[in-house]
Amino acid sequence: AVITRFAPSPTGFLHIGGARTALFNWLYAKRHGGKMLLRIEDTDRERSTEPAVAAILDGLTWLGLDWEGEPISQFARAERHREVAEQLIAAGRAYYCYASQEELTEMREKARAEGRPPRYDGRWRDRDPSEAPEGVKPVVRLKAPTEGETIVDDQVQGRVSFPNKDLDDLVLLRSDGTPTYMLAVVVDDHDMGITHIVRGDDHLTNAARQTLIYQAVDWDVPVMAHIPLIHGPDGAKLSKRHGALGAEAYRAMGYLPAAMRNYLARLGWSHGDDEIFSTEEMIGWFDLDAIGKSPSRFDFQKLQNLNGHYMRAADTDSLMADLMAFLPHVENGQPILDWLADPAHEAMLRMALPGLKDRAKTLVELVDSAGYLWATRPLDIDEKAAKLLGAEGARDIIAALHARLAALPEWSAESTEAAVRAYAEEVELKLGKAAQPLRAALTGRGTSPGIFDVLAVLGREESLARLLDQAQ
Ligand code: GLU
Repeated sequence: AVITRFAPSPTGFLHIGGARTALFNWLYAKRHGGKMLLRIEDTDRERSTEPAVAAILDGLTWLGLDWEGEPISQFARAERHREVAEQLIAAGRAYYCYASQEELTEMREKARAEGRPPRYDGRWRDRDPSEAPEGVKPVVRLKAPTEGETIVDDQVQGRVSFPNKDLDDLVLLRSDGTPTYMLAVVVDDHDMGITHIVRGDDHLTNAARQTLIYQAVDWDVPVMAHIPLIHGPDGAKLSKRHGALGAEAYRAMGYLPAAMRNYLARLGWSHGDDEIFSTEEMIGWFDLDAIGKSPSRFDFQKLQNLNGHYMRAADTDSLMADLMAFLPHVENGQPILDWLADPAHEAMLRMALPGLKDRAKTLVELVDSAGYLWATRPLDIDEKAAKLLGAEGARDIIAALHARLAALPEWSAESTEAAVRAYAEEVELKLGKAAQPLRAALTGRGTSPGIFDVLAVLGREESLARLLDQAQ
């Protein structure tokens, strides 16, 4: 069975690259009926924080990416990591190294002077620990091969070869006995039964070093896929301005999780020319060999357009659910949630959604154009609306329409439209000319969803009251 993992370091939020890595691991596991595990790489005690762990879990949940079982803390497994290091020492595949900081600095400087990459020279590889200097706490190093090459047979990068002379006798345990990241990852991936490692290609050299550890302990190396990092639209490394933000920022910008999943899947993976696909389709189609070798470019415009598509296609129930997940995370959300607590108001919003979603690319835009629903009388009037209301004859039109609408026996988009049309014809006004002041009076804005929908959604009482407010 396929077992993948997402292994974030909780030093910050779930950024966009991490979200994509998680998605790919999730898709691959789902595709093969396997599971994705979650490992929190919290060994950097200074930089790892509980709020960051919470933000990562929250971001994954928002994106709809689930994992099997409880998240695993890497830090909590330090004892097990030490045990494996000791096993390696006992087997002669690792050794204590007593080189001092000064010696290490000297080695680095010598290498730099000779134009070589800094590399530990192996001076304690074969020395007898009885020669150990008094009072020095050793590190434990892997006794790595010095000749030949280490191959990473990568599903994305192909066969990548690393000359062993360039790979150090890497440190497994620090002098205080804490495991290094390199050791911890290998032991955890093995113990968790990981079959496929999918992660950013910034870990490709680590993959070679980790392969050496696998070989030393005689464990199978998981299948690896190192995916190119995400770049900005200009091809440069992704910056904040270009979208290197946390998942919660995308949520707060009003993107839908389904659109986000679709967009992220297309960042580096493709399925023919398809741009829009459901999560089920993604799961059915996803494969590692269709991941491109060159960095993908993050493009806000594309994300917006895709999101607009998902908004238009969404049904009322799912849009309401997305909205309820969105509102707690935006500044103006709480008063709206309070308003929505009244079932009559929720019904109003549901009724308004079809008219609202077609005009909005994001939930932010949708909430903005829904503002007329929870606006309280007398309405704030925006500049454009003030102009419409101030135009010659506008107040008379509103007064006349108020009278006609008040006389309607039945209130609906259809009946109000018929009444407004009849009035416009009688007084020889274009329908738009009648609708403009009407819109301004009902919404306080120069633009809004279809005005007859607005009338229907607001209902008789509120509509007539708003009209009366502006009729004189
Ligand atoms: N914790 C590493 C990171 O956040 C990932 C390590 C891995 O996937 O092996 O970059």
